[in-house]
Amino acid sequence: MARAPRPSIGSAGRSSAGPHLSVVHTLPVDVDRVVEAALDMIPFDLTGVAINVKRHGVKRVWFTQCWRPDCPLRHNADESYVEGAAVGPGHLYRRKRDLELCRGGSRIVPLDRTRYWVSGRAYDGVPFPKSLPVGTRYLVTLKVPQVVAEGQLPAERTYHRAKTAGPTIIALPEDDIVFVLGHELRHIQQFRDGLPRSEVDAELAGRDLLYRWVDAERPGLWT
Ligand SMILES: [Zn+2]
Ligand SMILES: [Zn+2]
Repeated sequence: MARAPRPSIGSAGRSSAGPHLSVVHTLPVDVDRVVEAALDMIPFDLTGVAINVKRHGVKRVWFTQCWRPDCPLRHNADESYVEGAAVGPGHLYRRKRDLELCRGGSRIVPLDRTRYWVSGRAYDGVPFPKSLPVGTRYLVTLKVPQVVAEGQLPAERTYHRAKTAGPTIIALPEDDIVFVLGHELRHIQQFRDGLPRSEVDAELAGRDLLYRWVDAERPGLWT
């Protein structure tokens, strides 16, 4: 289904420098086929591992501008959160009430977070066993956006902020699914084999899987 260009939001008409949205596209990504093809390229035993994929649309966040260095809230607003929006400096939070702690903010406005990044998590155990196959011992969850902002990709990505193995090139939305899948599966291997839980190691594994999948002409995507 085609999505019409989104209008400006926030304090409409009050300021030409205010937040605005770029065009958002819905994605025809066949997530399951991409995941299945990438799993075929994993070099270790996946017995007892379940993969749970959730898709989601545009996420709403709340924004206020704030310059005060003594403000207790994190100054986390920049263009990497809301593609094309002039949002910094200030705070972006999922819950509006979190912004009430701000000591110097302007009016609080809603924004749509349009950045396309897949998120994932690896579980050493089974957090919700009823919905998983019998015999599951490890779980990987993937959250895959169904939208991408105009002009976001290709882009370089680092999965974690603090410790990183450096940027990885994400050319297509599906590349990020494979990158995050490889990262989280490496955590499963760390759990199972008693290895240290290393983010850099996981990031390198995600990149390795992605680049091998790209070299193999992205099986599952067009086949
Ligand atoms: Zn503040
Ligand atoms: Zn990780």
